[in-house]
Amino acid sequence: MAENKKNKPNHNKNQSKKALERQRVNQHTKTIKNKLKEEKQTGLVDGVFVYTGPLTIAEFALKINKPVTEIVKYFFKQGLMLNQNTLLSEDQIAELAIENGYDFKKENIVTKENLLETFQVEDDPKSLVTIPPVVTVMGHVDHGKTTLLDALRHSNITTSEAGGITQAIGAYQIVMPQTEQKITFIDTPGHEAFTEMRSRGANATNIIVLVVAADDGVMPQTEEAIDHARQAKVPMIVFINKMDKPGVNPDRVKAELMEKGVISEEWGGEVPFIEGSAKAKLNLDQLLENILLVAEVEDLKANPNKFASGVVLEAHLDKARGPVASVLVQQGTLRLRDVLVAGGTYGTIKDLRDDQNKSVSQAEPSMPVLVIGLNDVPLPGDKFLVLNDEKTARQIATAQADRQAREAEQTSKIVTLDKIKTQIEEEGLKNLNIIIKADTQGSVEALKQVLNKLEIPGVKIEVIRASVGAITSTDVSLAQTANAILYGFNVRPSAEVRRVVEERGVDLRLHNVIYKVVEELEQAAKGLLDPEMVEKVQGQAEVRVLFKHSAVGTIAGCYVVDGVIKRKDKVRVLRNGVVIYDGEIAGLKHEKDDIKEAKTSSECGITIKNFNDLKNGDIIESYLVETVANN
Ligand code: GDP
Repeated sequence: MAENKKNKPNHNKNQSKKALERQRVNQHTKTIKNKLKEEKQTGLVDGVFVYTGPLTIAEFALKINKPVTEIVKYFFKQGLMLNQNTLLSEDQIAELAIENGYDFKKENIVTKENLLETFQVEDDPKSLVTIPPVVTVMGHVDHGKTTLLDALRHSNITTSEAGGITQAIGAYQIVMPQTEQKITFIDTPGHEAFTEMRSRGANATNIIVLVVAADDGVMPQTEEAIDHARQAKVPMIVFINKMDKPGVNPDRVKAELMEKGVISEEWGGEVPFIEGSAKAKLNLDQLLENILLVAEVEDLKANPNKFASGVVLEAHLDKARGPVASVLVQQGTLRLRDVLVAGGTYGTIKDLRDDQNKSVSQAEPSMPVLVIGLNDVPLPGDKFLVLNDEKTARQIATAQADRQAREAEQTSKIVTLDKIKTQIEEEGLKNLNIIIKADTQGSVEALKQVLNKLEIPGVKIEVIRASVGAITSTDVSLAQTANAILYGFNVRPSAEVRRVVEERGVDLRLHNVIYKVVEELEQAAKGLLDPEMVEKVQGQAEVRVLFKHSAVGTIAGCYVVDGVIKRKDKVRVLRNGVVIYDGEIAGLKHEKDDIKEAKTSSECGITIKNFNDLKNGDIIESYLVETVANN
């Protein structure tokens, strides 16, 4: 590669090469150490807000002694959904400082805590080379993201040549056969990975490919993806998928996207649209070409001739190899035996593996690579930096780990109804934020009205979002960041969303009678929350095929997607997350036999007492009602 030529040391003088390398290492470490020596006071100093660089909302809040929720809400009112881990831009820091009555001043100093975010070496423009774009595929479920990622991975000539076992390292790189241009794809489709990265201040994506199935059109997650792309200011390419299906009409998709402000070049807009098929491998070349075109316009560059920095994509503990992290190199070149700080951990690289599981000696910008040798498992979204001095690396990792622990502590302060009395009286909770998701606009309005009228001494109730529809993981994220109680009225979360609720510790309350919502809140405020009748979801089955039977009515051929469906449990029928019926099972069968229960991943036939209006795609959820004492 051209950039290596310039740099090629004189091979006859191996000795001087080593000396040069040593000198380079020393210089790099010295730069970092010098920067660290300049520690100065930050935060509020004589009424002036002094900061050194980007801060997360949580950090900012801590420094000015304000609750995180207040800042999140401040942005929310401007239509920005940020959370405590969002990095504030300098403009936002200035805006917040003024809003809170302080002057502000930026000090150019590096601390062990901000080093990973702020450390930058000015690059001589001459040292910059064009780097491969990093692409994330987004879109609604079942629109073909995984199929597309697989198809593109296999379109890679060099992969098949190598014949290596591809391993999941969170991303892969393909090489265009003629031009040898590379493209990196983040291999976890969907929005979770992307938002997780962004919420931790990491931008690992240069281009978003929005997959929209031609036979389904714009769906809720399509809109979500568009919002993500806009917020992150990442250019988008639309891939209208499933064009191999007969009778599909791409113009309808284009029209729907136009309504959302995503206008194809063909229709006078700025977004490249490609019509193709991931399954039939139609127009994938055109998609790749467009990715490269957009990349060219974006003018993506980095300096490969310096110590590497970048971001952690995934990490886990491997029984044999210890902590293993897939990282994306963004700057510089990562080399075997480099000492690395990654978030709250550090270590010396003992082995580097590419996406073919081949040991490599180095990784250039935009290359995803597996790192073995860290002392602990970093978090996805953690920044990393090579810093060839073990002692300083350890100190920085410790400072980072402390900071992460502080942030985690903030997260654990989430509001829940059973703790609310203490939170009001002892922890000074002043606002009770509420998010409502309901089955109809009528329920939304009715709930908003009663909640806005409800008075709880010492707290202001604020409904920060109220809308019609199923509970999504976005609602859960908002509830977490805005410290809100999430109410579902006649709607139910899917099994996946339920898991997110548990993971984040958000208080999700499900009701179908309005006065119960009010009663529960009033009791909670007095610390008198009754032992609750809690519904425990036992299982969820998806209706895949319907049979009409003259004697028993509609039999739903189902696939159990989660948990267990028991003959005796109560069931409700969900359509798009909305409860359309609540009742009992009349019959549970496997093929011709009556059964007592059907477990995850098995098939069964379900009939519901007095209810025949089932449709394909409905979810039959089984549940028990249990009494649970609070506290
Ligand atoms: P994801 O949820 O977005 O990752 O979607 P998947 O990649 O899992 O695809 C969902 C379904 O659509 C699968 O059954 C795929 O085989 C199918 N599919 C994906 N792409 C195409 C396509 O181009 N044409 C057709 N006919 N089916 C497709």
